[in-house]
Amino acid sequence: TPDVRPLVAGNWKMNGTRASLDQIKAMAEGVLSPLSDKVETLICPPATLLYVATALCTDSPLAIGAQDCHQNASGAHTGDISAEMIADCYGTYVIVGHSERRTDHAETDHLVRAKAIAANAAELTAIICIGETAEQRQAGQTLDILKRQLAGSVPDEATAENTVIAYEPVWAIGTGLTPTVKDIEEAHAFMRKELVARFGNQGKTMRILYGGSVKPGNAKELMGVANVDGALIGGASLKAADFLAIYRAY
Ligand code: PEP
Repeated sequence: TPDVRPLVAGNWKMNGTRASLDQIKAMAEGVLSPLSDKVETLICPPATLLYVATALCTDSPLAIGAQDCHQNASGAHTGDISAEMIADCYGTYVIVGHSERRTDHAETDHLVRAKAIAANAAELTAIICIGETAEQRQAGQTLDILKRQLAGSVPDEATAENTVIAYEPVWAIGTGLTPTVKDIEEAHAFMRKELVARFGNQGKTMRILYGGSVKPGNAKELMGVANVDGALIGGASLKAADFLAIYRAY
């Protein structure tokens, strides 16, 4: 998308211990290149590593974010973390509504929207994940699902600054399967149209990432599709060499 700085983002999911901090250090050093003016990078490690990860990135453009936040600012919510806590650890992004959260924790569009609002209130950029299941795609419902999830999950106050959309077909996550370039193009063009209709100019430059089995080998092709403004990467973000290879595909 013209005038948009793409984002290459990694989601470590429930992976990573202190031993994995070497990978974050290597990524922080690896993105110290002129390319970082053009391409933004982000890693979302588990919450246990957030604070120490940001400390490793003080001299690097590599941003650090979290994988989820609670919709409330604080209170009696055992086991949850708030957006403010993420910001307090110097995190700048948070993923909300990942399909694994929607499935494992029955998260609805309504809840995802509340989480995005909480993230923005703490001055975090929310990465709002949407995407159809295999059954929905087979039934020809993909665009209807994307329309409904965008309408339900994205707050009215969303801007190109405080919000990133991640299109992740559920069936493409962790499977090695990806949609065809034509299918990605169609989905992203549709989401762009929806965002512009609702948010005007902000919708024109709101980043729309593709996620689902992005690897060093397919990154160039996937990132080259119209209206794909970066990637959300699971498995291939765990190793610095893979993550940096995807970054350098730009
Ligand atoms: C993800 O979990 O956001 C993801 C895209 O995973 P993977 O890259 O492993 O398919």
